[in-house]
Amino acid sequence: MEADVTVQSGNGLPDPAFRGIVYNFQRYTVHDGPGTRTTVFLKGCTMNCLWCCNPESWFQCPEVGVYPQRCIGVDKCGYCLDACPFSNRDIFRISERGIVESIDRKLCTCCLKCADECPANALAAWGREMSVDQVIREACRDVAFFNETGGGVTISGGEPFVQWQFTVELLKAFRKAGVHTCVETALGVDWAVVEQALPYIDFVLTDIKNMDPIKHLQYTGCDLQPVLDNLRRLGKSDKQTVIRIPLIPNHNDSEENIHQTGRFIADTFKSRLQQVQVLQFHELGKSKFSTLGKSYPLKNMEKPPRENYEASLKSAVTILRSYGLPAYIGTNVIMTR
Ligand code: SF4
Ligand code: SF4
Repeated sequence: MEADVTVQSGNGLPDPAFRGIVYNFQRYTVHDGPGTRTTVFLKGCTMNCLWCCNPESWFQCPEVGVYPQRCIGVDKCGYCLDACPFSNRDIFRISERGIVESIDRKLCTCCLKCADECPANALAAWGREMSVDQVIREACRDVAFFNETGGGVTISGGEPFVQWQFTVELLKAFRKAGVHTCVETALGVDWAVVEQALPYIDFVLTDIKNMDPIKHLQYTGCDLQPVLDNLRRLGKSDKQTVIRIPLIPNHNDSEENIHQTGRFIADTFKSRLQQVQVLQFHELGKSKFSTLGKSYPLKNMEKPPRENYEASLKSAVTILRSYGLPAYIGTNVIMTR
């Protein structure tokens, strides 16, 4: 479905009252663009990558994450039951020991009242509605560090262009405040919405997950072709860009795929490409799937022995460099403006 871009004001002035759903702020990050930055995480994604480390970002609406190991027990506490308008309909699955184990997501309206009342952080509120003005004030608390280090603000997700109007308004507002802007996007979106944002973006973090269209669809839930088309369009822009390749065992780690990826990047990004970062596979998001009542999609994945995987990382970098690309393992090489 094509995005409706007709409501965009186009006057370059931010609307401070515009609202969107934000699920996290990460301060003092040094891996999300040049310098020290604050990363703003928006809800909603166009992909569902099986290895995702932020599955709480997938849906645009706020959600409750359940951590049973933190629950005090409904006999001693029970604030969630008192707060929830549906507790009389068995919305909470409670263990014999009185521990809140999960929530019936079909009944839950994501009002977050239970999470707001829980004294033990056993119910996490993922996603809150915030205005542009509120986000700017929160993120700009660290403006002194931005100025000192050449940093700024990164808007990430999920996919920040799911809430594209909010992203554009935020970018405009940061630009107006003199803050360097970076967007982390997987580009599985309509280019028309990216175009709306480009004038206010200084730096782009993006990625390529697989050059095989079938595997790309299987592992991300998203078609490859629009992503490649958008990368070509980005390659023609004047934006400083870093491309990331998460190296997933048995998915995209074949030499053939890395050669194809390297050729594509070399042909597409003639200039303004600052780095290609080959990212190590990890399972940091594994526990979050269960807090959302989902099973971890890669739980049966066979992992290669550590030394074989490390050799694959090094080999990927060697292959990418053979195409003249500035390739590195990880996110530790300093990015510059
Ligand atoms: S988010 Fe609202 S509806 Fe959902 S379980 Fe909590 S209180 Fe009930
Ligand atoms: S409010 Fe939190 S700690 Fe108390 S019973 Fe509910 S989930 Fe458990």
